[in-house]
Amino acid sequence: MKLVFEKSVQGRVGHEVAPSDVPTSIHLKEEFLRDDDPALPELSELDVVRHYTELSRANFGVDTNFYPLGSCTMKYNPKMAERIAAMPGFSDIHPLLPQLRGGGMLTQGALEVIYDMDIALREICGMAAFTMQPMAGAHGELTGIMMMAAYHRAKGNKKKTILVPDSAHGTNPASAAIAGYTVKVVPSDDEGLMCLEVLKDMVDDETAGLMLTCPNTLGLFNPHVKEICDIIHSVDGLAYYDGANLNAIVGKVRPGDMGFDIVHLNLHKTFATPHGGGGPGAGPVGVCERLVEFLPVSIVVKRDDGTYALEYDRPNSIGYIAPFYGNFGIVLRAYAYILMCGKEGLPRIAENAVLNANYIKEKLKPYFEIAVDKVCKHECVFSASKQNEHDVHGMDIAKGLIDEGYHPPTMYFPLIVKEALMVEPTETESKETIDGFIEAMIRIAKKAEAEPDELTKAPLTTAVGRLDETKAAKELNLADVG
Ligand SMILES: *Cc1c(COP(=O)(O)O)cnc(C)c1O
Repeated sequence: MKLVFEKSVQGRVGHEVAPSDVPTSIHLKEEFLRDDDPALPELSELDVVRHYTELSRANFGVDTNFYPLGSCTMKYNPKMAERIAAMPGFSDIHPLLPQLRGGGMLTQGALEVIYDMDIALREICGMAAFTMQPMAGAHGELTGIMMMAAYHRAKGNKKKTILVPDSAHGTNPASAAIAGYTVKVVPSDDEGLMCLEVLKDMVDDETAGLMLTCPNTLGLFNPHVKEICDIIHSVDGLAYYDGANLNAIVGKVRPGDMGFDIVHLNLHKTFATPHGGGGPGAGPVGVCERLVEFLPVSIVVKRDDGTYALEYDRPNSIGYIAPFYGNFGIVLRAYAYILMCGKEGLPRIAENAVLNANYIKEKLKPYFEIAVDKVCKHECVFSASKQNEHDVHGMDIAKGLIDEGYHPPTMYFPLIVKEALMVEPTETESKETIDGFIEAMIRIAKKAEAEPDELTKAPLTTAVGRLDETKAAKELNLADVG
C-alpha cells in the first residue's frame, strides 16, 4: 500500500455554493484581506472521501486487530461507554457552568459521576479517597510524589531519596526526580523480583518512600509486598503503588490492604478507556487516611441535602494539578465500564487476563526463550536471544509481526531482559485470535532459522518500510511518506 497525498487537480471542483443573497454588512479593512491564493486542494468529494478512508485503513488500533503491547493493556473499549460519554447532558456541559442555579441542576449529574467514581475506586483499591484530576499515569505519579513531599514537609521529616526497583516503568524515576528527590535503584534478584536484602540495606532515615509496580514489568507478583511496605514504614517512608496495570489483580487483591499509602491507576488501561496515539488518558490517585488532607483541589463533596458541590477550602492541599476536574469524559467512560462489569465482572477481568498471558507463555516457550519461567500475571516477557544466533533481533521479530497483521509487543523493555519482547494479550481477546497470534509467532521463529535475511527486511506490507528510528524520533516528518 502506497499512500499518495498530492491529489489536487487544478480547476477540479468538489462543491457548488449558491451566490449569497444576504447583503454584505461588514466590510473588512483592506489590511485584513488576503491577496495571495490560499492554494487549497482541488478535488471532487469522492476523491476526498477515498483519501480519508484510505488513511484510516493505514491506522492500527484495537478496533482493527490484536494489539499485545505489553504493560499498555490495549483491551477492547466498549462502545456502550462511548455512547454514554456522548450523551448531551455530559458532552455539552462547560466546566464553568454553575453547580446549582435556582432549581436548575446544570452540573449535578457530572459531579455525581466524579463523586461515585471516587467511591468505586476506594472500594476497588482499599484507599481512603481519590482525586480524578491527573491526566495520565505519569501525571498521577507526580501528583502522588508531591503529596508524599507535602506529608514529609508537614511532619518536618528530612527526606531526600526515593527507592525504585530496576524493573520499574521509566516514568517512576522520572516522576520522583521531577518532584525533587534523588532516585536510588534497587536491583532485582534471579527470580526477577526486587532484592529484599538489598532493600533493607538501602532504606535509611532519608528514605521518603518507595515506588513499586506489582505485578512488576516482568508480569510477576511480589509475594513479599507486605513486608516491603513494613520496611518502608519503619523509617516513616511512604509506599507508592504504581497501579497503571491493575488488570492482573483487579477485584482480587487491593493495594490498600497490601499496605500501600498512595496508588495511581490508569483508567486508559485497566478501565478500558481508549488510548494510543497520545491520549487523552486519566490517572486518578488514591491515598490512605493520613494523606487525604494533601489531595489536590477541588474535591467533589456531597452535602446534607443530597446535592453535590466542589470544595476548595483545603489549606493543606497541594493545589491544582490540572485545569478543572481533569479529563472528565475519560472518568465518565471508566465509570460506565466499572458499572457494566460490576462486582462479579471485575475479578473475571483479572482471571482471564492472567489465563491468556500464561496460555501464550506456555505455547511459545518451545520457540522463544522466556525471561523468568514462572506463572505470570497479566503479561509475559520473552527474549529474542535464541533468534540472535541467526542474527535476528527483537526488532526484526516485531517488524515481522506487522506483516502478519499484528501490533508488535513492547520492545526491549524491561531493560533487565536482553532483547525483551513483552506480550500482554488482555482478557478481551478470543481463543481464536490468540491462537492466530501464537501461530504467527511460530512462523516467525521458523523463518528466523530458515530465512533470517527475509525477516530483517520486514515490514513489507505497510505504507513505509523499515524506518531509521533515530531519524524518525529526531526529525519527524509525517507528510512525506514517498
Ligand atoms: C503505562 C504505565 C505508566 C505511565 O502511564 P501514562 O499514562 O503513559 O503516563 C506508568 N507505570 C506503568 C507500570 C505503566 O504501565
